Amino acid sequence: MAIASDRPPTDGAAQAAAGTPAAPASPSSTVDRGPLDAHALRAEFPILGTTAHGKPLVYLDSAATSQKPLAVIEAMDTYYREYNANVHRGIYQIGERATAGYEAARASVARFINAPSPREIVFTRNATEAINLVAASWGRKNIGRGDAIILTEMEHHANLVPWQILVQERDADLEFIPITDDGILRLDVFEVLLRLKPKLVAFTHVSNTLGTINPVAEMTALAHAAGALVLVDGAQAVPHVPVDVAAIGADFYVFSGHKMLGPTGSGALWGRRELLDAMPPYMAGGEMIREVHLRRSEFNEVPWKFEAGTPDIAAAIGFGAAAEYLMALGMGRVQAHEHELIVYAMDALRREFPNLDLYGPPADARGGVIPFNVPGVHPHDVAQVLDRSGVAVRAGHHCTMPLHERLDLVATARASFNVYSTREDVDQLIVGLREVYRLFA
Ligand code: PLP
Repeated sequence: MAIASDRPPTDGAAQAAAGTPAAPASPSSTVDRGPLDAHALRAEFPILGTTAHGKPLVYLDSAATSQKPLAVIEAMDTYYREYNANVHRGIYQIGERATAGYEAARASVARFINAPSPREIVFTRNATEAINLVAASWGRKNIGRGDAIILTEMEHHANLVPWQILVQERDADLEFIPITDDGILRLDVFEVLLRLKPKLVAFTHVSNTLGTINPVAEMTALAHAAGALVLVDGAQAVPHVPVDVAAIGADFYVFSGHKMLGPTGSGALWGRRELLDAMPPYMAGGEMIREVHLRRSEFNEVPWKFEAGTPDIAAAIGFGAAAEYLMALGMGRVQAHEHELIVYAMDALRREFPNLDLYGPPADARGGVIPFNVPGVHPHDVAQVLDRSGVAVRAGHHCTMPLHERLDLVATARASFNVYSTREDVDQLIVGLREVYRLFA
């Protein structure tokens, strides 16, 4: 007997076309196509007008999570105020509007990364859940005894631990592409490792700790030539550089909405349709089924097969609004703005503090992240002093303990940028660091 409330949803793209339009980008984003005016943009991020310890907030921890523009906050607010209802269930006006809004968000996220179809976008809570989904579903089906999976030394724990668990369970092997001391992947060693005929190669697009932008299309082509599938962790790429999954050519691409101006609780897995179709469900329950009988069930089509239970509807709607907002800004302009800022910051830090330890590749090969250490001062102390100046940076291992081990570091402080970051933020970082030097050096 079919369960009426779990009817398979109709095609997402069709719903999007017929239903609630994606949230409009804010007006200041769309007018000027010259260089991005981050100062004007900041007015759209309410939190950037607040203070910390009585000083204007200088938020340099965007790699952990980004701040949110009004376009995102208001899209979620409107959902809760005007059409809060479950999706793919209610045959009544606000239920249909919620479904249309949810599926329109999926279409926006698909367009944002140039996915061939919204049906290839699975909503998850974050990048971590998306990787776990692939490891548990594709991995358990396809990885067997003695199979090899290749990762890199610079992976976030989210793109390491799920594979460790899988290979332990399957008696398979992990291999790692090493890095240079500057944090660049050794592609010469990668080519040698590919002789092992791995089943999967999984690597980050942009390093969350060093900022290294990896040559993902080239790496994907090499892996495919060796017969491996490719998963790219795009958590630190989508906020900063234009991403075109069709051009990269990988098989899976995962990312978090909350790092690209969207709400926490939003993330996505993009996968090739034929791979997603062949993968077993990850979680089971309502929504992911077509028919349920007492002793067997038939599963829904992708992507809903992977979205068991009531999803975070508001987060998905906010995620879609963030994708629309960034597309209206133009990711090329976002990248150019952040690159200019990285060059400015690295030059200023080197000039002001000649003995400051800066890690990672040159500015031209790096996204919006600068890890550093003040010699002889623990990064937690650095972060605490900066905090008193209103400057928020992260200190610790940034969920890359093996990378820190490789670089012989216990921890680092990390300043990270986003589209709303400005030279004035960098200047305040320098003022705060002068205080660190005055207190400790
Ligand atoms: N991958 C990278 C490169 C990251 O930087 C992060 C988070 O910092 C993740 C994965 C995990 O993201 P989330 O915590 O949103 O799942």
